[in-house]
Amino acid sequence: MRQKIVAGNWKMHKNAEETEDLLNDLIDKLPSDAEVHIIVAPTFVNLASAVEHLEFTNINVAAQNMHQAEGGAFTGEISADMLKSVGVSTVILGHSERRAYFHESNSLLKSKVDTALKHELVVIFCFGEELKDRQSGNHFNLVENQLKDSLFHLAEKDWANIILAYEPVWAIGTGETASPEQAQEMHEFIRNTIDSKFGKNVSENVAILYGGSVKPDNAREIFSKPDVDGGLIGGAALKADDFATIVSAAI
Ligand code: PEP
Repeated sequence: MRQKIVAGNWKMHKNAEETEDLLNDLIDKLPSDAEVHIIVAPTFVNLASAVEHLEFTNINVAAQNMHQAEGGAFTGEISADMLKSVGVSTVILGHSERRAYFHESNSLLKSKVDTALKHELVVIFCFGEELKDRQSGNHFNLVENQLKDSLFHLAEKDWANIILAYEPVWAIGTGETASPEQAQEMHEFIRNTIDSKFGKNVSENVAILYGGSVKPDNAREIFSKPDVDGGLIGGAALKADDFATIVSAAI
């Protein structure tokens, strides 16, 4: 049985004090049983303090990005080793905002995934189609290519550290959610795609999260679908009450 996972992507929100306040609120409000794996992704500058703050809790800390190189002259960038050195366990790669605004391609993401896995980081790998792809009926094809180009070179053992996050771009931050049926249809397609390349041992065990305007009032229905193993949450992860309700919906 796959464990449900709910991850909060805080994007470029919350300064140091606000991060601490939100973490305290989350510690108070989130369920402390082990039935759901909870992850939060504050900004880079607040990662170390978040790890310290959450040390005796069941909440894990993720970075929102990292550079593919081991180190060097890459002004403004952060390496996998730096993340590990402050206790970060997980990294989000391929978020649609990174793809759109920072031109991250499938092949660049392949390198980032390799570097992250080499450093034993868990990768939350994001992908999903834009509205024009869905309207033209190209969404399955596009998603398949995103997976093939960035993940199909992996070995079976690598999948123990991969979490997939299907995020239709048209549903991110828009208030427009994929219907539970649309989410299930795509998640089933993703699982079958992984199955055809890696077999059941990988496809039945990999968690596939849904992301895109998940809110307290729609989370339970989306998470109840058989191939939806939880969610990657943006806006609603910034309010402790909303995030706690969404986490509870995954139990
Ligand atoms: C996200 O940024 O990954 C996301 C899903 O955002 P939102 O929940 O705000 O749509």
